[in-house]
Amino acid sequence: MPIQCSSCAKNRAMLRRPKTGHSLCKSCFFWAFEEEIHQTIVSARLFNPGETVGIGASGGKDSTVLAHVLKVLNERYDYRLKLLLLSVDEGITGYRDDSLETVKRNQQQYDLPLTIVSYEELYGWTMDAIVKQVGLKNNCTFCGVFRRQALDRGAMMLNVDKICTGHNADDVAETVLMNVLRGDIARLRRCTAISTASDGEGGIPRCKPLKYAYEKEIVLYAYFKKLDYFSTECVYSPNAYRGHARTFLKDLEAVRPSAIMDIIHSGENLSVKEGVKMPVQGTCSRCGYISSQALCKSCVLLVGLNRGLPKLGIGKHHRLHDKILAQQALTQQEEKKLKAMNF
Ligand code: SF4
Ligand code: ZN
Repeated sequence: MPIQCSSCAKNRAMLRRPKTGHSLCKSCFFWAFEEEIHQTIVSARLFNPGETVGIGASGGKDSTVLAHVLKVLNERYDYRLKLLLLSVDEGITGYRDDSLETVKRNQQQYDLPLTIVSYEELYGWTMDAIVKQVGLKNNCTFCGVFRRQALDRGAMMLNVDKICTGHNADDVAETVLMNVLRGDIARLRRCTAISTASDGEGGIPRCKPLKYAYEKEIVLYAYFKKLDYFSTECVYSPNAYRGHARTFLKDLEAVRPSAIMDIIHSGENLSVKEGVKMPVQGTCSRCGYISSQALCKSCVLLVGLNRGLPKLGIGKHHRLHDKILAQQALTQQEEKKLKAMNF
């Protein structure tokens, strides 16, 4: 016998919600999923009427669902937001070129303006070229640092008030686990925040409206709504450590679905012992971007790439950063250390 939707008790249930276990029909699932995101937005006061909000759009399921749901809620609840899509082209052949085609279709489907900023334009390097120089081990370090800054720069160009990204509950829980495993207390304290403060940090505030949305539900939503998204993995994706955290989290979820929310709540309620040193934010002396060091991470990586010293930004070489910044010559030994490819 078909199971009835436990919410409307009218239609036939089409799915079991991964987050709650409720059997729902399609329209009750859509409603529940969208309402939870609305609640997240309202209770964390993510937006103010009249703001321009840039949606970091990669063409993947998360940002596609985010763009779709924000557009729906903006109309349903009259948020009065000006929404636009902001994409980063990392210059990865066979991956980003294809996923950007998806974003371009999304632009048509959702009727939202789209801006694409590229690594090549901003830094003079594509990820293809970076991988040629640094290999496949630390490429994501370069990519992650450059992406963060690229989104900010694009957002500044467009005079955006806030950036929102498609990070979901699984991503947040995974990051909590990773930071625990690495003992990275500064990041552990920050990583569950739903938005970065608008003051003090310098950058454009960022928020994660999908913070409490389960990845499995995002996939179901995209599937039943027939959203157009791109699901291929990056061709340069090694990131082994995050992969382990991810597998671990999926195993936990299989035993007890609430594990994801529980880890997020644990992260949110941790208090950091006084006396733990937190980095002080200043600005980069080369490009003016926020940084806790003389040079921002992006500039350090870039200087390293441009001088053929790819190791400069990996690991701690602060003394050498100062030397390079002061345009002092490096000793042969120092050069050798930073050139090594086997890092
Ligand atoms: Fe960049 Fe690594 Fe992500 Fe590929 S997997 S897009 S290289 S961060
Ligand atoms: Zn910089």
